[in-house]
Amino acid sequence: MAQYEYDLFVIGAGSAGVRAARLAAMSGAKVAVAEEHRVGGTCVIRGCVPKKFMVYAAEFAHHFKTAKDYGWTIEGASFDWPTFLAEKDKEIARLSGVYVRNLQNAGAELAHGKARIVDAHTVEVTGQGTHTADKILIATGGRPWMPADLPGIEHVISSNEAFHLPQLPKRIVIAGGGYIAVEFAGIFNGLGVETTLIHRGPNLLRGFDDDVRSHVAEELEKRGITVVLGAQHTAIEKTSGGLLNRFSDGHERESDVVMFAVGREPYVEGLGLENAGVKLTDKGAVAVDDYSRTNVENIWAVGDVTDRINLTPVAIREGQAFAQTVFYDKPTKFDHELVASAVFSQPPIGSVGLAEADARKQYGKVDIYLARLKPMKYAFGGDERSLLKLVVDCATERVLGCHVVGPDAPEMIQMAAIAIKMGVTKTQWDATCAVHPTLAEELVTMREKYVPMGLGQVA
Ligand code: NDP
Repeated sequence: MAQYEYDLFVIGAGSAGVRAARLAAMSGAKVAVAEEHRVGGTCVIRGCVPKKFMVYAAEFAHHFKTAKDYGWTIEGASFDWPTFLAEKDKEIARLSGVYVRNLQNAGAELAHGKARIVDAHTVEVTGQGTHTADKILIATGGRPWMPADLPGIEHVISSNEAFHLPQLPKRIVIAGGGYIAVEFAGIFNGLGVETTLIHRGPNLLRGFDDDVRSHVAEELEKRGITVVLGAQHTAIEKTSGGLLNRFSDGHERESDVVMFAVGREPYVEGLGLENAGVKLTDKGAVAVDDYSRTNVENIWAVGDVTDRINLTPVAIREGQAFAQTVFYDKPTKFDHELVASAVFSQPPIGSVGLAEADARKQYGKVDIYLARLKPMKYAFGGDERSLLKLVVDCATERVLGCHVVGPDAPEMIQMAAIAIKMGVTKTQWDATCAVHPTLAEELVTMREKYVPMGLGQVA
């Protein structure tokens, strides 16, 4: 008789946990997965997927404006939040169902409840008793972090609630300058909500290329978002008219909703990690080695709970590498270098590799190729500008970074990432013939170093 009930017990049925559980089960292992909320995790239930639907919904406002320039008459266009919510929730339920079926088809068992580690081989699931397992995989993800000591923080929502607001507010203040804050500012603004984005730093999106950061801030303002930089909330007070936001620069602003997107934290609360002696990093994430193994020999962790690169595709690949290492006898480390990412701001960003400042620090001399131009679509009206930038190592000619702000930037960057991951040089990059007329062709036609294309150029 087997020593344990399961070969693998996965805690958390999000992107990372589901991928790991399915692959492990497909190898013939006996696998259980515990999930306290809905199967699918942050990405499917309260993250990437519903967010993208909201971005699509919001973008229509901009398309309607452009349509007029092309001769269309748009009359009576209005947006109905409850209709959108119902459609979005239907699709999320469908996707969650697909995840459940995929797990079951692979032979994994699902346990609904909050799991707590009792010892290195025992997990207790609320309402379901205890289970033993040879190996445990922690894949509990992250959750919004809130500054608990801020006066009035109880009036604030996080992105979790933004997906289910009973009605669309007239005015919103969003705090934060990261992915979530910038994306939701675009969403609410596009849906007709008077939107203020307040960020403590001198520019949005720390970690991105500086030209991208300032370009995006300008474009957000052009779209109608009020961007307040270098200030943060000192208090939020309930008033008869809504919520009064007090800022550190002395300004005040009333809104109906205040949303904080000031970072996420690894979700380890109540997991019982101390019962097995699992160590955390100084930032509170589960500490793992390159193979995603914790300090406890049979306990592993993948995805946002390990706080490496907190992106869904990374979590999936970490889950996959874990399964290959442990259940397919193929030790695999996921390579966290050159992971491309997109910010679904409006306009969106696609970015892979090093920002100019980081490249200068690491490589010394770099060449910059940069174009700022009006996308062809806006030739008849509108003043939106796109930005395309390449960072190239002088010594080797290797393309170190590619950064795009503009329509379809997220689609573009996926392709650019392949070449950059393969170590493409600028000469090889330039040997690629352009696809015309596109915005992407600017990427392969930038010959002059550091010379921005003139504004207003269209193909
Ligand atoms: P980020 O870490 O991206 O940004 C947090 C923001 O909050 C930063 O601008 C930070 O400022 C600010 N901040 C931190 N602490 C405070 C504070 N005490 N007061 C005021 N501001 C503060 O977090 P997000 O929540 O936006 O997103 C979490 C992660 O989720 C992202 O890093 C990303 O990995 C992932 N994600 C990815 C998406 C995508 O792929 N499109 C979409 C959404 C999320 P400062 O810069 O000064 O530290």
